[in-house]
Amino acid sequence: MSEKKAEEQKGMSRRALLKGAALGAMAAVGGVALNLAKPGTAEAVVRKMPQKWDEAWDVVIVGSGFAGLAAAAEAAGAGAKVVILEKMPTYGGNSIINGGEYNSWDDEFHLREKLKLGDDSSELHEKDSLKGGDYFGFPELVRIFVNGATPSLNWMIDQGGLKLREVVNRTGGHSAYRTHTCVEGVGRGFTEALKKIAEGRGAKIRLNTAVTWIWRTDADPKSPILGVEITTGKRTRNVKVSKALILAAGGFSQNKEMRQAFNPSIVPEFNSTNHPGSTGEVLRYAQAVGADALQLCFIQLYPYAEPETGMLDAPAVYPFRGPGFGIVYVNKLGKRFVNEMERRDVVSRAEMATGMKPTYSIFNEAMIPKMGTKEEVEQGIAKGRFVKADTIAELAGKLGIPANDLQETITTHNRYMKEGKDPDFGRQFTKVMIPMEEGPFYAIAQWPAVHFTMGGLRINKDAQVIDIWGKPIPRLYAAGEVTGGIHGDNRLGGNATPSCIVYGRIAGTKAAKEKVVGKA
Ligand SMILES: Cc1cc2nc3c(=O)[nH]c(=O)nc-3n(C[C@H](O)[C@H](O)[C@H](O)COP(=O)(O)OP(=O)(O)OC[C@H]3O[C@@H](n4cnc5c(N)ncnc54)[C@H](O)[C@@H]3O)c2cc1C
Repeated sequence: MSEKKAEEQKGMSRRALLKGAALGAMAAVGGVALNLAKPGTAEAVVRKMPQKWDEAWDVVIVGSGFAGLAAAAEAAGAGAKVVILEKMPTYGGNSIINGGEYNSWDDEFHLREKLKLGDDSSELHEKDSLKGGDYFGFPELVRIFVNGATPSLNWMIDQGGLKLREVVNRTGGHSAYRTHTCVEGVGRGFTEALKKIAEGRGAKIRLNTAVTWIWRTDADPKSPILGVEITTGKRTRNVKVSKALILAAGGFSQNKEMRQAFNPSIVPEFNSTNHPGSTGEVLRYAQAVGADALQLCFIQLYPYAEPETGMLDAPAVYPFRGPGFGIVYVNKLGKRFVNEMERRDVVSRAEMATGMKPTYSIFNEAMIPKMGTKEEVEQGIAKGRFVKADTIAELAGKLGIPANDLQETITTHNRYMKEGKDPDFGRQFTKVMIPMEEGPFYAIAQWPAVHFTMGGLRINKDAQVIDIWGKPIPRLYAAGEVTGGIHGDNRLGGNATPSCIVYGRIAGTKAAKEKVVGKA
């Protein structure tokens, strides 16, 4: 197609878009809905507002992960009639399969203090989070989640029966030991606690129910969200939102087209750690009715995923938990290639720069209770995920890497740890780190996979979704990975769980306070 023709076509698309918006501006229930884009096409289409609502709820929540469940708990607790709509056959999204890590400078047991792991504060957590995202995160939004992290952790312990392991980690990019782990060692520990609170307060979860459109009549800042279209199998119905709609539909790491549209370096060949439902369409529906989005090009790679599948299973969390206790990363030549205390983006890039897939995390027996449990490691060995050997030379043999070089790397690192200085990569050492002098020794293969989308819907401190004119869209809230502006260009590991839960709680609390429109 000639350049001129392409421009003409673009112009036509723009006119069609504007026409769609103008039509939308006249619409009311039973008329035409605002629709700036139809998924899958650049052309605007006219979508008819439903003639009648099939059902009505005070607060409708899209997505049953941390953010949706926390929102449901608060909204239902405030007396609202709440439903969570979840497109998958099981609840929990990425949250239920997550690594069970939660950053909080404190907890009601004061574990960090009890375990003598040094100092921390909410101010330091905030500083690390802003720095870890290269100052692209909005300080006000970061402060809110950091300050809410500890009360929300205690809330889940007290009201949801959440249990924590007696261990606190210092993970990449953090300057203190603040990463807590639930006993299950997987996000289910948190989702079950949240679900218990939410359902105990009367919230309902409806599975196999995809939200396929958001109903709003026009992009006037005063125009509220009215409802959503839902699709169950082949059946489409319309749900009225009497108080507010909360979008908690997660990120878009599994949508190869979308992630590449925003960041061409995230090529389709990358695996993803995410569940299959993280496809981002709800973000698009919100944009189509006027929501603003930001920082969509910031997409995180998890450096320690299973190299062939991208899976982030229980063993794949050990390399993340290990840096604060002395874990070492090596390439296929048995050499270190990065400061293990570094952020995920730095480690991922360094792994790819080795030019040799995969890389390995090396640890010893004494580190296991600091990172997980003996049972988990045994299960990981049985699955072929962890490799175990009595000596470093034997471990090297099993991995097919030069034994002398791996031995030299570990011996040198042990010496650096004792001297408190790493002239090679500038690793920061602490008193609780364990030198790898005694076996058995363990290794796990690791490689980057697409993990987290830092960008998303623009929200304010009350979790209201902001429109393209900078105004909150009436009756629309969002929380969790569907939002942007919190984690900057690189989320620090363990920060997603608290930020989703803190903003979910804010969204639920605020949504329940909205006045009812019509009959609920
Ligand atoms: C394997 C893995 C491990 C992780 N480990 C950690 C960790 O240890 N600590 C940490 O802080 N972070 C971790 N993260 C990141 C963190 O878990 C996620 O960012 C977080 O779970 C997102 O929560 P959420 O509620 O925003 O979304 P999700 O938990 O993904 O929930 C969103 C839900 O919305 C549903 N949905 C989407 N579209 C629709 C639609 N159209 N209609 C209806 N429903 C829809 C999805 O199916 C999904 O169930 C991990 C992520 C992964 C993938």
